[in-house]
Amino acid sequence: MLNLILFGPPGSGKGTQAALLVEKYKLLHISTGDMFRYELSNNTELGQLAKSYIDKGQLVPDSVTISMLRKRVEDNPDVGGIIFDGFPRTVAQAEALDVLLDDMGTSVSYLISLDVPDAEITERILLRGKTSGRSDDNDPEIIAKRISVYKSETTPVFDYYAEEGKSLKINGVGSIEEIFERICEEVDTL
Ligand code: ADP
Repeated sequence: MLNLILFGPPGSGKGTQAALLVEKYKLLHISTGDMFRYELSNNTELGQLAKSYIDKGQLVPDSVTISMLRKRVEDNPDVGGIIFDGFPRTVAQAEALDVLLDDMGTSVSYLISLDVPDAEITERILLRGKTSGRSDDNDPEIIAKRISVYKSETTPVFDYYAEEGKSLKINGVGSIEEIFERICEEVDTL
């Protein structure tokens, strides 16, 4: 199985690149952010709980996120591979993912980190906020909080997989096509 983690700060283009990768490599796309927004649009209890964190730029608690993710993976036993987009965001999530994949007789192939400077991601998120309808994309304070949570809680996940030689950094500045080509070059040499 080809199991990729698409990694990077908020607004780094993970969702955009994931959509292209899914098509090219025929993978299942799992975005925890999209899953929370889906729950919210259906006004479920999980959606309401997630909203209380998302609207503050905080992470949803690991126990909630991990059990939601686990169910999604277990519901799709026959896929050829998975792209994890926005997960894992903490080392505890990475450890849980490793256990889950190990139980399925597989493992993370690579973590691909999109490298984009802070100034550019803030600009991109505010631009996206004009059309995304996402309340967490319109407020500079929430955006700053998301970036700071990324640095403190999420970047250790890069180091976690780097220890196994699985973390790759890709220049995330450029056109969508250019960045996609950079990622494919790496994936094709795996
Ligand atoms: P972005 O990458 O632009 O921040 P996402 O759609 O991935 O957007 O996530 C939106 C919000 O959903 C996050 O700010 C966070 O509150 C919550 N979230 C998404 N994925 C996770 C996760 N793996 N763990 C905890 N919270 C998450």
